[in-house]
Amino acid sequence: MGAAMVGAEKQAASPNVAGRERVFCHDMASYSERPQLSQPVEPYHLDPLFAELTALRGVGDALAKLMARATGGNRVIDLVFHLPESYLDRRERSTIKSSVPGQVVTLEVDVIRIERPQTSKQPTKVMVSDGSGFADLVFFRSFPEAKLRVGSRVLIAGKMDDRRQIAHPDHIAPAEHPDRFPAVEQVWPLSAGLFAWHLRRPVVEAVSRVPENIPEWHDAPLMQREDWPSFLEALRGLQLPTTLPAPEFRRRLAYDELLAGQVAIGIMKRRNRERPGRSLVGDGKLRAKALQAFGHELTEAQRHALAEIDADLAAPNRMMRLLQGDVGSGKTVVAALAMLRAVEAGAQAAIMAPTELLARQHARTLAAISPVPTALLAGTVTGKERARVLEGLADGSIPIAIGTHALVQEGVAFRDLALAVIDEQHRFGVNQRLMLGQKGEQTDVLVMTATPIPRTMLLTQWGEMQTSRLSGKPAGRQPIRTTTHALSSIGTVLQAVARAINAGALVYWVCPLVSESETSDLAAVEARYATLFERFGDIVGLAHGRQDTNVREAAIADFAAGKTKILVATTVIEVGVDVPAASVMVIEQAERFGLAQLHQLRGRVGRGSAQSFCLLLFDDNLTETARKRLALLRETEDGFRIADEDFRLRGGGDLLGTRQSGLPGWKIADPETDEGLLHMAGRDADVLLTGDPRLTSPRGRAIRLLLRLFDRIEAFRTLNSG
Ligand code: ADP
Ligand code: MG
Repeated sequence: MGAAMVGAEKQAASPNVAGRERVFCHDMASYSERPQLSQPVEPYHLDPLFAELTALRGVGDALAKLMARATGGNRVIDLVFHLPESYLDRRERSTIKSSVPGQVVTLEVDVIRIERPQTSKQPTKVMVSDGSGFADLVFFRSFPEAKLRVGSRVLIAGKMDDRRQIAHPDHIAPAEHPDRFPAVEQVWPLSAGLFAWHLRRPVVEAVSRVPENIPEWHDAPLMQREDWPSFLEALRGLQLPTTLPAPEFRRRLAYDELLAGQVAIGIMKRRNRERPGRSLVGDGKLRAKALQAFGHELTEAQRHALAEIDADLAAPNRMMRLLQGDVGSGKTVVAALAMLRAVEAGAQAAIMAPTELLARQHARTLAAISPVPTALLAGTVTGKERARVLEGLADGSIPIAIGTHALVQEGVAFRDLALAVIDEQHRFGVNQRLMLGQKGEQTDVLVMTATPIPRTMLLTQWGEMQTSRLSGKPAGRQPIRTTTHALSSIGTVLQAVARAINAGALVYWVCPLVSESETSDLAAVEARYATLFERFGDIVGLAHGRQDTNVREAAIADFAAGKTKILVATTVIEVGVDVPAASVMVIEQAERFGLAQLHQLRGRVGRGSAQSFCLLLFDDNLTETARKRLALLRETEDGFRIADEDFRLRGGGDLLGTRQSGLPGWKIADPETDEGLLHMAGRDADVLLTGDPRLTSPRGRAIRLLLRLFDRIEAFRTLNSG
């Protein structure tokens, strides 16, 4: 009864109920009318949700900035979907004595004493007691005189700090009026300087911008089966609760978000399928020559992947294919052969790598096997050479280009770019991926990644692409032997390294450089270089990101040529360096790397036929999780398994892996934990789009609103343009 009453009051007080079409809205000229109930909601009716946060009453620039930091966006919709992470039940009372620092508590206390500030910088302090102990309420800003008088008994709620203080309690009410306390309260994720009371009113206003008569986009049988509330009911139940929301509320919104994603992907995929491409076929002559120069047979997995790519190239549609393969699985050769097919068909091909180092490596690989001219285009290619390359690309005399993002810069033109290969795609933004494809007419796109992408991520971020997998490694490889060592036993590690060098091995010695700007890390690399140099002499080289490119590349080249035997390096060697004779890798402070990154690093060895070793050095006091992670690496070389486990083990804020983003862009759903919902959404989207590809049915029109709500702008535009 109580809850129902509150709900009814809210409705009556809210301006956007049926019958009232004019809404007070002082700050949005374009938004003066709400749709009437009789009028269907159109996507543009959602525009007020996409206004900036400052459009909300009482939200100025400074507050908007704080809010944006917590919500991850500066628009009203970002606040709408910034759901509480938990709820407080205000009916539960604590005592001062039993409250733990950091805990949000509700207390019933007597006001003992009020300490007024001496200067304007000091706070007002109110000493209170509940018989179990004493605490201070602290007010830096306005102090609610009327509510806190010496001798009065009050209910207060707020966060207790470690000095038994509550700064600016969230609520204060006379003890005889517990009804003035909200029964349930939202605990939103906050950022420094942002408090729950900042959000309370803006959230109410933000949610009220959702049209009251927004239609249901889910099928009735699904709603019934899942026992889900309507969108608005779920949103209000979570953001403006009067009772603790049932789990179905969040599930419904998570499903909304996942469905929006899957429908968007479905739309893009269908568009790709319809988009005209060109058929690239060849006589295989260039390929045969290249394979001969390469000197190895393709593995079964390589042949299979290449056949899939060939089928795409030959088809009259545009290729959008992702080639996944662990480090060292032999993707580069596959890409090279695919590129030569484009050349056999009389066109050009380009491959884009994330770093110049990697681009140069690809350039060497390609130059060594390609029967036709190739050229490198990167930041350091300037002057006459750059002019020569640009000319060759423009007139077609250079059929194969290798480069960095310099390839997609303005001023770079191809005569006829038919195939764009993008390596290590996770390092590029989606835009860059699209941009290289746009350098030609109907260009086929092949994306390669050595970072195994977890299944759920494939479905959510890559769903519009076809995928090929290169499993296993070229024959003749032995598994890498991985061991872990405490830093205190570095002596044994050094002895092992000395033995390996005597036996003819080349050794990578990797130090973490979490951010290239961290001087202390840099100092550590240099110090390690110095100690190794002292012990082993001038067979030790040094390569890191702060060096001049020429110096660094020379150091790597010396190592590759065997002139130096130990290369002390930061993660500049993570991607792509290919030195088959290197068979030992030492990684210092392994606990500071992400698992996937360690796996990538380790992939730099084990490329030749010799037995390879990876020695992981860790700090002596290691956390339990870190220990588990390193153990996993010792146990397996299966990149896909490591990626999945990494994903699972990666708790929030843990040192290992914090630099790798999980699944970006999700506000409500977590595709990992909501995997069941994700698959449901995938099927749902498929059925929907098969029956109604242009989303013109009543449900389709409602789904358009869903796409708008969850910012699936690309899909939305695609729909409207076709
Ligand atoms: P990736 O790009 O997937 O990390 P690469 O294409 O660089 O892998 O290949 C790793 C190493 O294996 C290279 O030294 C390459 O020459 C070699 N390689 C690739 N394919 C084969 C093959 N079929 N047989 C023998 N060696 C191969
Ligand atoms: Mg590679």
